[in-house]
Amino acid sequence: MRQIFAILFVAFFGFDTAKGAEKFILLKPDRVFDGITATPHTAWVVLVNSEKIAAVGTLGDVKPPTDAKVIELPGTTLMPGLIDAHSHLLLHPYDEAKWDDQVLKEPLAERICRATNHARANLLSGFTTMRDLGTEGAGFADVGIKSAIEKGIIPGPRMLVTTKAIVATGSYAPSEFAPEHRIPQGAQEADGQDLCTVVREQIRAGADWIKVYADTPHGPTPGAKPAFSLEELQLIVATARDAGVPVVAHSQSKEGMRRAALAGVETIEHGDAGDAEVFKLMAERKVGFCPTLAAVEAYQRYFGGDPATGKAANRMMAKRASFKAALESGVTIINGSDIGVFAHGTGAREIELLVDFGMTPAQALQSATSVAAKALHLQEKVGAVKAGLLADLIAVEGDPTQEIGALRKVKLVMKGGTLYKQP
Ligand SMILES: [Zn+2]
Repeated sequence: MRQIFAILFVAFFGFDTAKGAEKFILLKPDRVFDGITATPHTAWVVLVNSEKIAAVGTLGDVKPPTDAKVIELPGTTLMPGLIDAHSHLLLHPYDEAKWDDQVLKEPLAERICRATNHARANLLSGFTTMRDLGTEGAGFADVGIKSAIEKGIIPGPRMLVTTKAIVATGSYAPSEFAPEHRIPQGAQEADGQDLCTVVREQIRAGADWIKVYADTPHGPTPGAKPAFSLEELQLIVATARDAGVPVVAHSQSKEGMRRAALAGVETIEHGDAGDAEVFKLMAERKVGFCPTLAAVEAYQRYFGGDPATGKAANRMMAKRASFKAALESGVTIINGSDIGVFAHGTGAREIELLVDFGMTPAQALQSATSVAAKALHLQEKVGAVKAGLLADLIAVEGDPTQEIGALRKVKLVMKGGTLYKQP
């Protein structure tokens, strides 16, 4: 009898109910932003079955089972869980502790304890997926944190991790120590053919992506300069690609961005000195761009000096100009904030800045949902409110397509069908 019931259900709804109908949850918001369509759907409901979205549409279309648990979400917009493609769970804001002190003086166990708090704060603020771009001296700790989240030991977003990240010898930090001292670095140093070994080591340790610093502020003069030759970057990309692992490049200078794009990296981070020419190259080569606006804002707050002198305003003004060039070039803009530089749990700031810098609210929301999911090769799993995808869903008070600040008012967080926050 039970089997017949299940078969009838499958025939009717097109999905397997054999795991038990008590796992159905019906979410009833005012509207649904599906992550793809700019205008939210009114009068839609979402039916979740176990870890996946079972059906989306009007109540009449969805036909939920009578014993589904109903969650009423009046006044809210239901949308895909947010994605941040550039995070650092193992960093905390630099006005709390300087980056050098975090890397050199905070014990690894303390850093991991902090990271567990960061993971929870990010999840509860609506971020259900994060790509973590380097442990900054904390070795392979991100692999263990990801695994603890996946095993349900601690709450946190789905993680894609990069482990140590790769820098050219002598190009990163901490720096400015006496030349005879060898100071531990915030990333793994390698050059030339050794890059092959380091890429393979990091992949073996669990890297989902390989991160390379294509440029850094090294040498006797200030400013970011290329750290690797084009050939070195190509070797990194080719080695990673053999293992099915994509590469992401930190780059602030135009030349660093140009080399990274030509070498075949999939996303470029920061892009502060990017102009129309290099963003066009990125667009042509389908290289995504994470602008990290909120980090620039935070740097300015920490180190910008006196706004009255004009110095503090300059960096954000320059960033505004480069972002405008990016927007006009047609390059794919992905929500990536560099969270960790600023407080975990406040990732919505980046999306607010995307709007402040010229995107429509719907575009900014897409860049933090469906667009980010595609860039991270996760579009078959997350990033949209669509039957068959994982039930990574949030509800926010108000309508973020009208007022982006609604993202600050997260009322419900569900990841893989599990509720972490509800009214
Ligand atoms: Zn970063």
